[in-house]
Formats: sequence, structure tokens, C-alpha cells
Amino acid sequence: MSLPLFKDLIAPNGKKIHQPLGLFINNEFVKSKSGETLMTISPTDESEITGVYAADAVDVDLAVEAARAAFVNPSWCDISPTARGQLLYNLAELVDKHSDQLATVEAWDMGKPYSVAKGEDVAESVAVLKYYGGWADKIEGRTIDVGPAKLAYTLHQPLGVCGQIIPWNYPMMMAAWKLGPALACGNTVILKSAEQTPLSVLYLAQLVKEAGFPPGVVNILSGYGKTAGAAIASHKDIDKVAFTGSTVTARAIMKAASVNLKNITLETGGKSPLIIFEDADLEQAVKWGHLGIMSNMGQICTATSRILVQESIYDKFIEAFKQETTKVSIIGDPFAEDTFQGPQVTRQQYERILSYIEAGKSEGATLVHGGTTHGEKGYFITPTIFVDVKDHYRINQEEVFGPFVVIDKFKTQEEAITRANCTPYGLGAAVFTKDITRAHKVAAKLESGMVWINR
Ligand code: NAD
Repeated sequence: MSLPLFKDLIAPNGKKIHQPLGLFINNEFVKSKSGETLMTISPTDESEITGVYAADAVDVDLAVEAARAAFVNPSWCDISPTARGQLLYNLAELVDKHSDQLATVEAWDMGKPYSVAKGEDVAESVAVLKYYGGWADKIEGRTIDVGPAKLAYTLHQPLGVCGQIIPWNYPMMMAAWKLGPALACGNTVILKSAEQTPLSVLYLAQLVKEAGFPPGVVNILSGYGKTAGAAIASHKDIDKVAFTGSTVTARAIMKAASVNLKNITLETGGKSPLIIFEDADLEQAVKWGHLGIMSNMGQICTATSRILVQESIYDKFIEAFKQETTKVSIIGDPFAEDTFQGPQVTRQQYERILSYIEAGKSEGATLVHGGTTHGEKGYFITPTIFVDVKDHYRINQEEVFGPFVVIDKFKTQEEAITRANCTPYGLGAAVFTKDITRAHKVAAKLESGMVWINR
């Protein structure tokens, strides 16, 4: 049966949502050419929320045509940078105005606590869109002194049509992080949401039109990676692909993008270490260590999923960490006020985490907390803590992407650095110490894109 283009849904918190289901191309919601749809499931009770239209290569072609036409249309390419920034600002204001609906859809579709979806994800999306709106008229080139007889300068120009492929762990924020910079710089965009969580991004699409963006500047597609995602990555008329997701998919995208030597940006996975020295403020280390891995159900690319603790405070830290987890990690319905931890996003992720729990046990690590499922329905897993985890264990080397932390002890600073750097990843890291010299020295030695200090 074919789906309508919009559906009025009643969310579990009683909120009415006028939910778009179509593909957003040229400022209109349309059906996929093949009629293909995908079903999105509530991870809390495993019920079907709704079907949405799913794009394939033909729909991607149409979105690219729209984006290409918009890129050279004076209604977009000839507006002032300030006006471009204003459009992003308008969008931010609309996201803010619809924050209840967006947070509701996010919590329902993805499983994150409603309070987090509203207070963090939607609020940050507003801030990000405003931030990039502010950049639109502050993009500057350089002049280069090549002697008195010549003039050389750099001019920053938009790339053209940008494909953007995002994952399911922060659907709204991912959309804002991708749309903001691309649009501020004058590009046009085809954004594909993750098949597990299409709803908030589709809801955002209707706000794009209301914000005043000309048709074709922003196109938003739901769809599977192997069809819609692959068609974006290999499309010859797309100039750039920005991707966030798994390392395996990043490799496939890099390969596919070679058809026209597309410019690519890839943000992938992590197994980020958190090092705690014996002089650290233990209370702070416990608080941030817990948040670093247990928030968003551990589904954070920069989750501090490996904790290394100096020997003399190891036992004390483990006890305090278990207590913090018991106190803070309240599992339950994402719409309940006191919930800290909702379900994992899909059955597949849930089963993946359970398989890592088994791996941890059979590898010889000691399970000191959690390691079980929770409740009768939904993809809930208790926050899981393994200790005495050796560097070569799979649970220390591979990204689990769940509320799952591994802890071990170290003796010296050198050992901590070597062991922190012992995985193929390098996304984030954290250091806790009161010795500021040591903090900066260790941070510089960590092979990581970013390092937090005492945070
Ligand atoms: P995934 O790579 O399977 O999916 C991410 C997106 O890529 C989805 O939209 C999917 O449809 C699409 N996709 C899948 N196969 C594709 C293909 N062949 N061609 C083009 N697109 C394709 O990732 P996932 O497992 O759903 O998401 C979790 C992963 O994302 C984790 O590894 C996590 O670390 C990573 N992640 C990284 C960051 C970061 O900023 N570095 C942020 C969030 C998540």
C-alpha cells in the first residue's frame, strides 16, 4: 500500500506530530519513484512507528538535478552572504520553535531520553545553525606578496553540490553539523539520514522551506546505505561527500567517491582512552568517566570507552565508578523524567553489544557490573563494566558502541601513554591530573584528534 506524504502521529508522550514521510526534493515532499518505503521502529517497545519513503539511485539523481540547478540559480548564488546567514538563522529559530516536536520524535525514533533530546540535541542544533549563520559573511581569503608587479590572492568559493550521509546516534545534531557549514559557504546539499532514524530529519526538512531557502538548495532523503547512500557516494555530479558513520562504510565511500575524485570528509569510529593519574580529583574523574561512556547509551563516537587508572587508586576508582553508575544510570522509558539511559537504537546494535559481553567473559576480563539485558521489551542493556582488561583483548581494541566500559591499571606515565595509543583508532582521549605540566605533556603524546583535560 502506498504511503501518504504526511501522517498525523500521536507520540507516547501524547504529543501530536504532523510527520512528513516523503523525500524532500526541490522544497516539496514527494514519493520515491519506485514506491519503496522503509519502516522505522521504536527501540523502547519494538513497535512500528511509521513507514517513510526510501530513496534509491533514481531519486538521488532527481535530488542532484535539483541541487545543481539551485547552485547556479541567482536566488541562491547571487544572494549576499549576510542573507545566506540569515536563512540559517531563520532555520535555527524554527528548530527552536518546534523543539518539543523535534525532541519527541527524536526520543521516540532513536530512544534517547526526551530531556536530553530537548535540552542537548535540539538546543545544540539551534546553536550550531546560528553559529554557522554567523560565519556566512565572515569568510575571508588571503593576499600573498609576490612582488610589486603581481597580485596574488585566494578566493573562497563554494564547492557545489554536497552529499551528506549521517548516522543514527545524533540525527538532529548530525544534520545541523552538516547543513550549517555547507550552506553558510554557499553550497547546495543532498542530506541522507540513517535508515534507523529518519523522522526528526524529515521534520526538519519542512522547516527548511518555511525558513525561506530557495527550492533545491536543501534536499533531504531517507533511504538505505547500500542504495541511496552508495548512489550519493558514486554520483558523478556531486562535488563533495561528507560522511559520519562506521569505518567500514567510510572505506566504501572513499572507494566510490573515486569515480570523479570527489572531495570527501570522513568522520568514523573511536575507542577513546581516559587516563586517570593518582593525583586527580577522583570525584570529577568518576563523574566525567561515567558520562563519557554511559551517556547516549554509549552510542557516541568519542565515548571514553577505555579507562586507564594509576595503580594506587585503581580499587578505589572502581568502587566509586560502580556506585556512580548505580546512582546515575537509571534505565527506562525515554519519556520518563528520571531516565538517564534509554534503549539501544536497534536490535542489531543490542545483539552486537551482547556478543561483546560474551567476548569479554570468554577473554578473561572480570565483569563487575551489568552485562545483562533489562526489561521484557525493547533493546535495553544494563551499564556494563569490565575490569582487568588487557590491551590485546577484543573488548579493548574494538568499538562496542554501547554502555560498555573497560578498565585496567597502569604504573607509570610512559606506560599510560603507550597503552592509550594501542588501538587503531584516534578520535578522542581524556587525561585527569592536577599536575598541569603533565596534563599538557600527556595530551600532546596521545594519538588523538582531541584531548579533554579534567573533563
Ligand atoms: P554506518 O556506517 O553503517 O551508517 C552510517 C550512514 O552511512 C547511514 O546513513 C547509512 O545508511 C550510510 N551507509 C551505509 N552503507 C553505505 C554505503 N555503502 N555507501 C554510502 N552510505 C552508506 O554506521 P552505523 O553503524 O549505523 O553508525 C555507527 C558508527 O558511526 C560508529 O562506528 C560510530 O563510531 C560512527 N560515528 C562516528 C561519529 C564521528 O563524528 N566520528 C559520530 C557518530 C557515529
